[in-house]
Amino acid sequence: EVRLQEAKDSIRDVIDFPKKGIVFKDITTMLKDAKHLETLVDTLYNQYKDKGITKVVGLESRGFILGTVLAYRLGVGFVPVRKPGKLPSPTYSEKYSLEYGEDEIFIHQDALDSDDVVLLHDDLLATGGTAKASIDLLNRFNLKNVFVNFLIELDFLKGRDKLATQYEVDSVFHF
Ligand code: IMP
Repeated sequence: EVRLQEAKDSIRDVIDFPKKGIVFKDITTMLKDAKHLETLVDTLYNQYKDKGITKVVGLESRGFILGTVLAYRLGVGFVPVRKPGKLPSPTYSEKYSLEYGEDEIFIHQDALDSDDVVLLHDDLLATGGTAKASIDLLNRFNLKNVFVNFLIELDFLKGRDKLATQYEVDSVFHF
C-alpha cells in the first residue's frame, strides 16, 4: 500500500551508530510525521483488533511509543518491560545479549495473569535476543495467548529463527 511504503521510505539509516559497523534504523523521521503515525497506528489496530488482546506489553524504550498508543486504541492496558533498576515492585527478569552488548530485562510480577492475551510490541527485531528474552518473561505468566509484533524486522539477521516460538510473529516493515 502506498501510505505504508511512504512511511517505510521515511525511516532513516544512520551509519556507525551506536558504534562502527552498525547501520541504525532511525524511526524518529517517520514518527514525527502525523500522517505516517496515523498510518502505523491504523495498520496495527486493524491487524490486532479482533484477536482478543487484553494487554499490550511494550519494550523499553522505543516499544513504549506505539505500544501505548496501540493499547489506547485497542481499549486495553499497557505494561512496560524495563531495563535494570527501573521497576519499583517485585519483578521477573531475563538476561540476554543484543546486537551491541548485553543486558537484562524486567517485568512486574503482578503485571499480567493467566487470563491475558498479550500483544508484545517493539520497534525492531534484529538478532532476536531482546524479543526471545521478552517471550521467556511472558511465559512465566501462563498466558492464554501471545502475539508478537515489530515495526521493523531486519530479515538478514534471522532473529525470527531465534525466537523459536509457537506464537504468531509479524512485522510491519522488512529490510
Ligand atoms: P536484538 O535483540 O538484536 O533483536 O535487538 C533488538 C533491540 O535493539 C530492540 O529493542 C531495538 O530497539 C534495538 N535495535 C537494534 N538495532 C536497532 C536499529 O537499527 N534501530 C533501532 N533499534 C535497534
